[in-house]
Amino acid sequence: MPRKAIKKDKEKNAKAKPKKHNRKYARLRGMKDVLPDEYKYWELTSKKATDLARVYGFERIETPILERLDLYERSTGRDTDIVTKEMYSFTDRGGDKVALRPEATPGLVRAFVEHGMFNLPQPVRSFWMGPVFRHEKPQSGRWRQHTQIDFEIFGEESPVADSQLVLIAYNFFSELQIDVQVQINSIGCSECRQEYITSLEEFYRERGKRSKLCNDCRKRFGRNTLRLLDCKEEGCLSVRDEAPQIVDFLCDSCREHFISVLEYLDEFDIPYNLNPFLVRGLDYYNRTVFEIWPSSEEEGAEDGEDALLSKRQNALGGGGRYDGLVELMGGRPAPACGFAMGIERVVSKIREKNIPLKEDTGDYIFLAQLGDQARRKIFLLFEDLRRRGYNIRQAFTKDSLKAQLEAANRLGAKYSLILGQKELMDGTILMRDMESGTQEVIDYQKITDELDKRLRNGESK
Ligand code: AMP
Repeated sequence: MPRKAIKKDKEKNAKAKPKKHNRKYARLRGMKDVLPDEYKYWELTSKKATDLARVYGFERIETPILERLDLYERSTGRDTDIVTKEMYSFTDRGGDKVALRPEATPGLVRAFVEHGMFNLPQPVRSFWMGPVFRHEKPQSGRWRQHTQIDFEIFGEESPVADSQLVLIAYNFFSELQIDVQVQINSIGCSECRQEYITSLEEFYRERGKRSKLCNDCRKRFGRNTLRLLDCKEEGCLSVRDEAPQIVDFLCDSCREHFISVLEYLDEFDIPYNLNPFLVRGLDYYNRTVFEIWPSSEEEGAEDGEDALLSKRQNALGGGGRYDGLVELMGGRPAPACGFAMGIERVVSKIREKNIPLKEDTGDYIFLAQLGDQARRKIFLLFEDLRRRGYNIRQAFTKDSLKAQLEAANRLGAKYSLILGQKELMDGTILMRDMESGTQEVIDYQKITDELDKRLRNGESK
């Protein structure tokens, strides 16, 4: 072909429209590909969660994506949106009715019961990460397959467990530099809740109220009246504002439990918002329920009804206590609580803010204590040092100093800080160099100066 003709041919090809993309094999609606550019943020997020799990003593566990359908019907609840509207369920080739996991807790509880984990030293702290499927209407931040990070504590009734979960969630977000609001409520036990529901039903029966409710809420009324508080429709929200509040109906032991949770949060310096209408909409919750919402600045909106609605719909995490579920699933009764966060929403917040993360130096500091008073104080020191970016480890469930120092050695800690009765009285702490075994008494107020001198050449984080 003459040169001129080749050139013309090339120009013609360059101008030709690109071949139409073959959409036949496009991904399903509401499903997401995570490409390398985004995946690095996923790694940061899962690493932060994994680090926190390790620090607070949670062990990783994995369960199948596919479970029996009746697991979710029984635990999540037959009348919940997740089960009635959103679950991917089908009959498999063997005729079994199965479902793709719509939430983590039922599978984790099943595993706890099936493997007799109540025989392990309690509490059992489980950490899980994996895909979750819900056939919801796709929109910004709402996917039909999304990935959750989940922390559960089995066998611990104390409000310490509830507050520690809120603390972990709060630390997770603040360490990723995402400003959040903790929304918290107590929905009591089955007895005090029943009294509340009766009063709520009386309230909704008053003239003119039910006509303002959405179709779903009219159906829920009488069957699952608590869920009316959780509805995001405008009409339902407007009626709800005047509704009685469950905190006024809590029995003594539920009230005490809730107050203790809040006191621990105060002690940990975690801001929270008491939200009387937070109910979480699943059947198994009792007592503490909480959600993590993006803060106003994060949403770039005022605290009006619309902003509140968008925050609730885009919650970054949520959870609560479910003391009856293990027994309901056939296990020996075991109180439990947990929470989950969605990676996609966290990653989109990190990307919006372009947040860089700090490197892990790998120098562990182990905190050891002797006696109840020292344990309480060291709990706060633990939080303080961790928030300042030190790599902290502990074995608070062990009482003897020997066992604690053995744990420190196993973890390869560089220093152990030891607080006993004498140090408590003197306002000091012992700093032990784990390699040489030498110990120094240092002023309690100067702990971070001393650590910075040794680990950061005098620079504080
Ligand atoms: P939930 O069990 O509904 O409270 O979900 C726990 C967390 O998972 C939420 O706070 C969100 O961060 C995340 N999440 C729930 N549903 C979706 C969804 N459809 N798409 C993306 N993330 C979700």
